[in-house]
Amino acid sequence: MKKPTVQVGLDKYVTDHGERGQCFGCKSFFYDTALMNSQSYCRLCFSKKFPENSTAIFEKSDAKFHCFKECGARNLSFDQFILGICCDPAANFVGNRILF
Ligand SMILES: [Zn+2]
Ligand SMILES: [Zn+2]
Repeated sequence: MKKPTVQVGLDKYVTDHGERGQCFGCKSFFYDTALMNSQSYCRLCFSKKFPENSTAIFEKSDAKFHCFKECGARNLSFDQFILGICCDPAANFVGNRILF
């Protein structure tokens, strides 16, 4: 499966924050987050806040998203959202790698 190569802020498409979807630092939603003191951080905020910590484990966000082409799909996982599985416009958009 294709994986996004960049981190993308997707907050305006979020339908469910999930357990670890939202970065505690910047409040945005990213592909993966690391838990620290029971709070999630994106890679950028984590490296700023804990520069000495290089062993953090980043795991995939469990937030849910709605289709950014408004086809009506909701509850898309990050992978489904990124790949645009719900409709052709979304798939084509992602295929062009125009990522937010
Ligand atoms: Zn952040
Ligand atoms: Zn769609």
